[in-house]
Amino acid sequence: MSYYSPSIEKLIEAFERLPSIGNKTAARLAFYILNASTEETDEFIQAIQNAKQNLKYCSKCYNISDTDPCEICSNATRDNSVICVVEDVKDVVAMERTHEFKGLYHVLHGSISPMNGIGPDDIKIKELLSRLMDGSVKELILATNPRVEGEATAMYISKLVKPLGIKVTRIAHGIPVGGDLEFIDEVTLSKALEGRREL
Ligand SMILES: [Zn+2]
Repeated sequence: MSYYSPSIEKLIEAFERLPSIGNKTAARLAFYILNASTEETDEFIQAIQNAKQNLKYCSKCYNISDTDPCEICSNATRDNSVICVVEDVKDVVAMERTHEFKGLYHVLHGSISPMNGIGPDDIKIKELLSRLMDGSVKELILATNPRVEGEATAMYISKLVKPLGIKVTRIAHGIPVGGDLEFIDEVTLSKALEGRREL
């Protein structure tokens, strides 16, 4: 049985559904909300609704953005001859934090994982290939995560792209194998970018 009244219980359950939030943290967040001012909770609700309404995927790079094309794709100072391929929107943020990369991105939204039934057609590989067709891209940097799936995805893309005469590089492994790009510090990540090798 529950020790909380139904409304609190419901709020705790809602928080518990969020990633990496356990029952205790969920309860703490729920009680924070209950004690917060109406103004503060309204702002919070508004922020969630705004994000859901305004954010969309960039039709070029599939990054999430308020605008289409996204801020990066529509920035004329970025080098459109280099595309950095990442698995996730959060990896774009990780790369941007290094301040090292001035090219464009392509977000795959996952990696090839036959074990989980995810094939090349389930992620944005076709979309990547069609971006490469106009000949403006000279280098493709594969910055998928250094896990089995990320490596397999990098190899798969490399095989498809190399015949197009585009230089294909893979970020170096200052990054721990099995690691996640989003949790790697800026220095390690910029070193990895610097030490990328041709595939
Ligand atoms: Zn974009």
